[in-house]
Amino acid sequence: MGTQKKTAVVTGAAGFLGSHLTDLLLAKGYRVVGIDNLLTGNVRNIEHLAGNRDFKFIHHDVTNYIYLPGEVHLVFHMASPASPIDYLQLPIQTLKVGSLGTHNALGLAKAKGATFLLASTSECYGDPLEHPQKETYWGNVNPVGPRGVYDEAKRFAEAMTMAYHRYHQVDTKIVRIFNTYGPRMRLEDGRVVPAFIGQALQGRPLTVFGDGSQTRSFCYVSDLIDGIYRLSQGDYHEPVNIGNPGEMTVLQFANKILEVTGSKSVIDFRPLPVDDPKVRRPDITLARQKLGWEPKVSFDEGIRKTVTYFRNFLEIPA
Ligand code: UDP
Repeated sequence: MGTQKKTAVVTGAAGFLGSHLTDLLLAKGYRVVGIDNLLTGNVRNIEHLAGNRDFKFIHHDVTNYIYLPGEVHLVFHMASPASPIDYLQLPIQTLKVGSLGTHNALGLAKAKGATFLLASTSECYGDPLEHPQKETYWGNVNPVGPRGVYDEAKRFAEAMTMAYHRYHQVDTKIVRIFNTYGPRMRLEDGRVVPAFIGQALQGRPLTVFGDGSQTRSFCYVSDLIDGIYRLSQGDYHEPVNIGNPGEMTVLQFANKILEVTGSKSVIDFRPLPVDDPKVRRPDITLARQKLGWEPKVSFDEGIRKTVTYFRNFLEIPA
């Protein structure tokens, strides 16, 4: 391993975002230590890194103490179940990785004098009463509802991160990630992007929850990872939204997927999950100002790439 290279630790490295971040860090010349307990991550996402001398994988649950020898310059805490289905099925693990996992990852950063970046979420805004959402909005979260395990874990993680910054002078950053999509999402993770694309490609009905009038704003993964990297290199310590402000209803999204895939699938309206946010759209003024960042990949381009990925994954000819 090159001795001058900086070392980054990525928790959740075998996950959707963690694996893309790992790829970017390696491309930027970092050594990367990826940690994952493979609860929702998959080694397939990092198998292309086998044999890369700058990458090391550690199978470990970060809710337990993280011991790492040697220098560490950056710690990215990306580990968590992150789709509503996952965190409804894994509520305790979700609470633990947001609380104990964040504490351990912060402890590692403090011990190594490393920069720490927390992957937080637009779920901190809950079912928002302010629209679009600015970082200054405190949110409308039901702490005891089914989504509370994720939302409150991340809100606690933000509080813990700011405490380590204020009381231990750790160089910390917090990214609030809005809906992101792209290759390596899990087909069965229940999120709307893989769900609709998988259903459309397999000719099954598209399961639109509620009447489909709820909105989301979808960011392509390479844009999101670029924003996270920029944030890690800067000196801004308060939370920053990273997401694509292009907003659409879930029903519009379903029709778009039918169009891009050329599918004849019908739409099947299902009950709306409890506490499903009615609107979501990031205000990215702060990211523009502080990071010079804004999304570059259009929705059409990103969706086409993602559909191609799932076609190959499902071995469905174009
Ligand atoms: N959704 C849907 N059908 C699905 C999965 C999700 O209509 O099969 C809706 C869901 O109710 C929500 C939106 O799509 O309003 C985005 O859901 P997702 O699970 O992707 O993430 P969220 O933004 O809720 O965290």
